[in-house]
Amino acid sequence: MNKRDDFLKKTKEELAKRCSYRCSNPNCQKITIGAHSRPDKSLCIGRACHISAAAEGGARYNKLMTSQQRRAIENGIWLCADCSDIIDKDEKKYTVEVLKQWKEQAEKELMYSDSCLIKDSQHLLKIIGIAIGAGGTGKSFVTSAISVALSKQFNKKVLCVSVTKYDHALLNLGFERELERLPFSNSSITHNDVKIQTYHSPIYDNVDVIFYDTLKDIHLQQLLKFGKTDLNGMLLDLSKRCGYEYIVCDCGDGLTNSIQTEILLASSEVIIPLGQHSNSNGGMSSVCYWLRNSSSCKNIWVFYSMGYLTSNPKVNAQFRKEFLQTQEIICKAGLNLKEVKTVIPENRYISDCMWRKKDIWKFEKVKNVVQAYKELVNELFG
Ligand SMILES: [Zn+2]
Repeated sequence: MNKRDDFLKKTKEELAKRCSYRCSNPNCQKITIGAHSRPDKSLCIGRACHISAAAEGGARYNKLMTSQQRRAIENGIWLCADCSDIIDKDEKKYTVEVLKQWKEQAEKELMYSDSCLIKDSQHLLKIIGIAIGAGGTGKSFVTSAISVALSKQFNKKVLCVSVTKYDHALLNLGFERELERLPFSNSSITHNDVKIQTYHSPIYDNVDVIFYDTLKDIHLQQLLKFGKTDLNGMLLDLSKRCGYEYIVCDCGDGLTNSIQTEILLASSEVIIPLGQHSNSNGGMSSVCYWLRNSSSCKNIWVFYSMGYLTSNPKVNAQFRKEFLQTQEIICKAGLNLKEVKTVIPENRYISDCMWRKKDIWKFEKVKNVVQAYKELVNELFG
């Protein structure tokens, strides 16, 4: 009597769920479940297939396996009806190794990582890194403008983190460099025995900041206490406990230290502002090098930061060239480049109100720039 080692119902269900009911053949990936014409039913064309056959005479049968091993979830793969037929008709091509590789890949792509789970429970938490190798491309301004625009457009709490010793982004948010920060102090919180001090922006509701010296101190203390650093974990914990939905980080120029690279690696969105002067895309290769090793980075956005539409056609042509070069570097690195349609208009009054305690959101002369930043955050995160 030919005995079959069929899967239990529970095993079949688990196999299907682990790949979201998609066919695990990487060249197919068909969704195998959907609505039936009857409103109370669903229709499934997927099958829990045996990698090594359930019975003697079947494809890839392995007589050395026990019954238990044959019906174990490890011996199953979820496929659509077509693919399940094909793999059994050509077992020389669809070997145990090939099928195991399909399964591993299909499940790996859908695996819930720690950061995914936290993002889900946080609904929207995004860590946004503003980065580029070269200096003077408007990173600080972009960081502060995006922070304020996010808080105003979406009415969410935003944390702005300075990852550069100049703290320029924070000056745009109403602080002065050597200012006594106490009047604006939040209550500090403690993460893994390390104290984190944040401050309310004195001019923008819903925007808090972390100064670079605080970040440096956290980094050092983590290293001393635990022998390793975890700025990502610190930011996630902070967002959970204080209700930040966006964390916007000015990653500084050059990515010269481990704090900057750690924050860049933690970012799910990376914004590369170009413009202001020639060679503004210098250092892009090193940015891409780091991002290729990031498991958090989902999207990269490249855009002209401010006033690229100058009256000088030569300068404009240079900007355009650098823009295309940058896109090419990112694409060659295999990273996910997103297009930005919003153009930040030229406005000479912007430099007048940078790094001063002035609310550009109330400054009539830069109204068009403020409007562009509102459109930008809608485009990026709306
Ligand atoms: Zn298929």
